[in-house]
Amino acid sequence: METKYSTKDGNRIYFNEEHEMLRQTVNEFVKKEINPFMDEWEEKEMAPLHDLFKKMGDLGFLGIRYDPEYGGQGLDYWFDLVFLEELGHIHGYGVPMAITVQTHMATPASHDIGTEYLKETYLRPAIQGDMITAIGVTEPGAGSDVAKLATRAKRDGDSWIINGSKIFITNGVQGDYVTLLARTSDEPGYHCFGLFVVPTDVPGFSVGKKLDKIGNRCSDTALLYLDNVRVPHGNLIGPEGEGFILQMKQFQHERFAAFPIMYTMSQDIIYMTVDYIKEREVQREPLIMKQVLRHRLADWLTEIECFKQLTYHIVRMKMEGMDVTREVSMGKLYGGHLFNRVADGCLQMFGGTGYMHESLISRYYLDSRLLSIGGGASEVMSDVIAKVEGF
Ligand SMILES: Cc1cc2nc3c(=O)[nH]c(=O)nc-3n(C[C@H](O)[C@H](O)[C@H](O)COP(=O)(O)OP(=O)(O)OC[C@H]3O[C@@H](n4cnc5c(N)ncnc54)[C@H](O)[C@@H]3O)c2cc1C
Repeated sequence: METKYSTKDGNRIYFNEEHEMLRQTVNEFVKKEINPFMDEWEEKEMAPLHDLFKKMGDLGFLGIRYDPEYGGQGLDYWFDLVFLEELGHIHGYGVPMAITVQTHMATPASHDIGTEYLKETYLRPAIQGDMITAIGVTEPGAGSDVAKLATRAKRDGDSWIINGSKIFITNGVQGDYVTLLARTSDEPGYHCFGLFVVPTDVPGFSVGKKLDKIGNRCSDTALLYLDNVRVPHGNLIGPEGEGFILQMKQFQHERFAAFPIMYTMSQDIIYMTVDYIKEREVQREPLIMKQVLRHRLADWLTEIECFKQLTYHIVRMKMEGMDVTREVSMGKLYGGHLFNRVADGCLQMFGGTGYMHESLISRYYLDSRLLSIGGGASEVMSDVIAKVEGF
């Protein structure tokens, strides 16, 4: 999105004409098909995902990196980054979250190691925008401690019977299937889980409740119940017992997807605030004249640039096929808090106006709060970093 403040000269080092064409297409889509409706969707507490994702699927947005054999674009991580950066211009985090569940959270494992049956039946419709997906890991008794989850899958002939519940599931109300982690045996350790594709229209599957959140209100979040849900053995992704390991890999895609959205959105929040404080007068001069405020904004922009450069470094590592667990955990830890601080600090500069629901900054403030909790809380990221570092 063009801005009158930043110069994007540095971008030329990373992006060519093809990247910029994708950027422009996604940018126009956000401006035309998403932002004008954000207020309405927030009010209704639901974005119309079937309609929106179909449009995005038709434009090839839902499978940027995925295999063209299954409807994907077959592009690399730089194109993925460009797509995610443009999602950052959406006026709130709820819709980008719904989209990245589809593109980076519920589908990577099926794409990477799914069978032909899984790819044809579930991945292709997700890429085309014909099916809405969700990722079901968290349970009422197990969030940060994923290994504690109690949802149980038992083998019965050529199928699995699943019992349990999942909480805080994004797209859970509108989802057509959930990529769901369940325990397959009571053995200790991590090799006793399965990652299953569970259609939501099967007997025994129910949405217990649509949850009432403080932010990201247009994103539907559900409590799900599974009561003797039967799925074919073919709906197990990868080898039996390896679901936990697969989900840990899938988490790296999930966490990474938030970075470009967070730094782009943080930057937009800052420019929006600059516009406001240039107009707002206090003590007979515009607030922008206060050096303390200008410095604060400049400090955040500096941190945003550092976060962005860490993200670009991760893209380079991904292009080399390297393990990015350490860097992605650092990005999630740092970026989540930065996003919190920028939204909070900019709301402060809007004063009472910022505290009103009708102001966009209040939405950013409430939405951003999730980012140091969801998808792995900050403390969990610190744990991972310490472990990878060996202390
Ligand atoms: C809006 C929203 C959408 C979500 N979407 C999904 C989804 O689509 N799919 C899904 O599976 N899950 C989803 N989640 C769940 C989310 O990933 C979890 O909320 C998150 O992992 C934290 O788990 P918890 O809520 O159980 O917190 P707990 O595990 O109870 O932790 C509470 C707090 O304790 C602290 N803590 C945790 N571990 C440690 C530690 N090792 N050391 C020190 N402190 C620690 C952290 O501050 C943490 O926030 C969503 C959550 C929300 C709120």
